[in-house]
Amino acid sequence: MTTTLVPFEEVLEKYDPALGLEVHVELNTATKMFCGCPASFGEEPNTSVCPVCLGLPGAMPVVNGKAVESAIRIGLALNCEIAEWCRFARKNYFYPDMPKNFQTSQYDEPIAFEGFMDVEVGGETVRVEIERAHMEEDTGKSLHVGGSTGRIHGADYSLVDYNRAGIPLIEIVTKPILGTGAKAPEVARAYVQQLRNLIVALGVSEARMDQGNLRADVNLSLAPKGSGLLGTRTETKNVNSFRSVERAVRFEMSRHAGVLDAQESVLQETRHWHEDTGITTSGREKSDAEDYRYFPEPDLVPMAPAREWVEELRGTLPENPTQKRARLQAEWGFSDLEMRDTVGAGALDLVEATIAAGASPPSARKWWLSELARRANDSGIDIAGLGVTPVDVAGVQALVEAGTINDKLARQVFEGLIAGEGTPEEIVAARGLAIVSDEGALGAAVDNAIAANPDVADKIRDGKVAAAGALIGAVMKEMRGQADAGRVRELILERLS
Ligand SMILES: [Zn+2]
Repeated sequence: MTTTLVPFEEVLEKYDPALGLEVHVELNTATKMFCGCPASFGEEPNTSVCPVCLGLPGAMPVVNGKAVESAIRIGLALNCEIAEWCRFARKNYFYPDMPKNFQTSQYDEPIAFEGFMDVEVGGETVRVEIERAHMEEDTGKSLHVGGSTGRIHGADYSLVDYNRAGIPLIEIVTKPILGTGAKAPEVARAYVQQLRNLIVALGVSEARMDQGNLRADVNLSLAPKGSGLLGTRTETKNVNSFRSVERAVRFEMSRHAGVLDAQESVLQETRHWHEDTGITTSGREKSDAEDYRYFPEPDLVPMAPAREWVEELRGTLPENPTQKRARLQAEWGFSDLEMRDTVGAGALDLVEATIAAGASPPSARKWWLSELARRANDSGIDIAGLGVTPVDVAGVQALVEAGTINDKLARQVFEGLIAGEGTPEEIVAARGLAIVSDEGALGAAVDNAIAANPDVADKIRDGKVAAAGALIGAVMKEMRGQADAGRVRELILERLS
């Protein structure tokens, strides 16, 4: 098969892309989907297991109520209908890490369906329609030992860990996303990013892509431009970062166009994403739904969530993150750029908490985005990991506004906060950073500066007030920065007028 890649811009001259995204979210329930085993991570392999999640004959599953609650809340947050009655289904296939030889999932009766999410892309809103959000269980994990790729080919032997088998998952499936054109890669990324924000705001999952709590499969097909058809799609599995989602779409668009330009057919298959090289490679031929021989799970009763309960859960939904951002921007009076920088620096919640602790919006933004972002960047850590709290930042700003310290001294206070030297007040006291307000000491320093710079003093006496800067600098130097520059200026002008 052809693997000629068509340059991205040329793809769009001849083809329309159709996107589809399937996102698996691992819920953060205390126990597994159908048994009481802890749904925790990092345990010794095969220790969080029981007859149910090991699929031993005769073991009977029971649905985890908390997982159903999380599924309904996700559905509601995605503007879905919540089923009045639905069932689990068996999805039959064999995999060594799936001990029952079927996965308990949902098929034609999902718990949530027909929703949408409005995605912001470069100032434009794209409505992504949600086909369904259904519940299922995770499989175990195979580890292929030996060989260079970590895949089964070339491995010496394989190990299976069933700790993950039975962890509750929600799979969120979009309808085909059409009409995005050149923006398709960005739309895919923005959708996954915004979905993650929503999941985090709901508090139903850790939603860390790098840890596999949130896994995105990216479907893509191309159709002749303007034809309104849907082409044959490929499904790139487990793309594990926002950036990779965008890159994978871009790559598949170029690859599909190459195949179609050569008059060949795109093979309906799953593909593997390679983070290092930025390409996809062929996985397995994609099974059709019929191949799984779905049938209703006979060991579980159907679910019929009471309407009152659903409405009660609707009341627990957090503010939609996109709407919240718009509200905060208006409240704080930030420009689009300021807001984007704040979000981009991962400082939105920190700025919000700092303002709640009493700082003004501009000062909260200033400290987090200049001083603290720079220090985090220098030490290669996350801004939230600096060890400086929103209360600390509000405290520093309060000291600046009270005239106890100035901006320059505040930087030394932050240095102390990062070093764990105590509260802002304690650091100011311990490091002796407070501005000297003793008029006698200030006056003496001003007199010294005038005596040491007679020519500058003469200029000021002649009315060249701008020259005062040199004297202020000399005084600040003598006071080791611990003076109020405004007061120093007043004292100089008083003496030389
Ligand atoms: Zn179990």
